[in-house]
Amino acid sequence: MSRVLVVGAGIFGTMHAYFAHKAGHDVTLIERDPRPMSASVRNFGMVAVGGRAPGEELQVALRARELWGEIASDHPSLTFRPSGSIVVATAENHLDVMHKVAQYPDAHLRGWTVLDRSEAQDMNPGLQGRGVEGGLFCSEDAVVEPDRVLDELRETLEFSERFTYFPSTAIDDVSQKGTEVVATSHDGRKFLADWAIVVPGADHTTLFPGLFSRAPLRRVFLQMARLADPGVTLTTSIASADSLRFYPGYQGDALEGLEPVRPLVRDMVMQLLLQQRVDGTLTMGDTHIYDEPFPHEMREDCYELLLDDVESIVGVRPEVQTRWSGIYSQNTTGAVCIREKADERIIAVTGPGGRGNTLSPAIAETTIRELIDA
Ligand SMILES: Cc1cc2nc3c(=O)[nH]c(=O)nc-3n(C[C@H](O)[C@H](O)[C@H](O)COP(=O)(O)OP(=O)(O)OC[C@H]3O[C@@H](n4cnc5c(N)ncnc54)[C@H](O)[C@@H]3O)c2cc1C
Repeated sequence: MSRVLVVGAGIFGTMHAYFAHKAGHDVTLIERDPRPMSASVRNFGMVAVGGRAPGEELQVALRARELWGEIASDHPSLTFRPSGSIVVATAENHLDVMHKVAQYPDAHLRGWTVLDRSEAQDMNPGLQGRGVEGGLFCSEDAVVEPDRVLDELRETLEFSERFTYFPSTAIDDVSQKGTEVVATSHDGRKFLADWAIVVPGADHTTLFPGLFSRAPLRRVFLQMARLADPGVTLTTSIASADSLRFYPGYQGDALEGLEPVRPLVRDMVMQLLLQQRVDGTLTMGDTHIYDEPFPHEMREDCYELLLDDVESIVGVRPEVQTRWSGIYSQNTTGAVCIREKADERIIAVTGPGGRGNTLSPAIAETTIRELIDA
């Protein structure tokens, strides 16, 4: 058994703590904020396998999906719904594209089925919009609740004497002294361990700025909103057909059948993603900006376009209750993350991009197995 210190309690930090504890280690999890409030709580909570790139990314996503299922069955208090997703066709040509996509060699791994309008509405009775022509169902997709999942995962550990959590504790320095690592907090407390795993999300500057600035990383800015309960139940996650353009799993000649992209969709790299929460409200997004400095204002034209798409798919235009932005860390090589040693016993992990909620259990499992337990 080793003492493992995890700095950052977003979904990456929490999953690393979970798998280190599961492997028998003594775990300390440290978070700067009173409650984590970065990407991991600002997202859709989607465990999205369907659109992952062929090869390593899909394999890691499939392993992660399996692990999410195992965690949920070990801990029934986790709000995990293996409810699948539908990319909604709102034109005949979308269905043609989906039929071709569903022939890709790895389609069976993703659990894709093309649905006509009535099959899509049987699967998800909330698809009552005039635009709905059918869709591409993905049986492997699932969802967790971003405003609960970190608490729920930590609660599975808090019964244990081998787990301690320190919120409101910003770490200013992590260094190795001999075979021990020492993390120092802003108020001078020292945390000693055998290993440190630094998982700071999109904060590339507080700890190991040299390592993160040399790594192939960028930050990405997104716009999101919460919509009022539309009064219908959406039994699956929803994506508009624009998502076919952006997710690597759909790329190929099939996409030549799509209509020209709308200019705002192209400029803001947008698609409608829509997730009903357990309280009935909807999480709606998203847009992408890749160049810093990021804006401090939300673009209303983006929200209007997304709401048009919601109306076309769901048949109602719910009121916007809240708006927020989010920033994630993305590696630019296509790898599932960057995982680098800052010192012999200090491991930095970030850069999963818009897939971090999905991939986190598999990435954490690998860190613990290959670097700490090796
Ligand atoms: C709007 C949006 C929607 C998304 N939707 C999805 C989705 O549906 N599905 C999906 O798979 N992915 C999604 N993603 C991506 C996913 O949210 C991220 O990849 C993931 O949350 C990254 O987790 P993380 O723990 O690395 O980072 P974070 O959530 O940013 O957590 C890092 C934590 O480290 C703490 N920290 C940093 N530095 C220190 C320090 N020095 N001392 C102490 N604590 C520190 C921070 O306070 C923070 O709580 C989305 C992202 C965004 C922004």
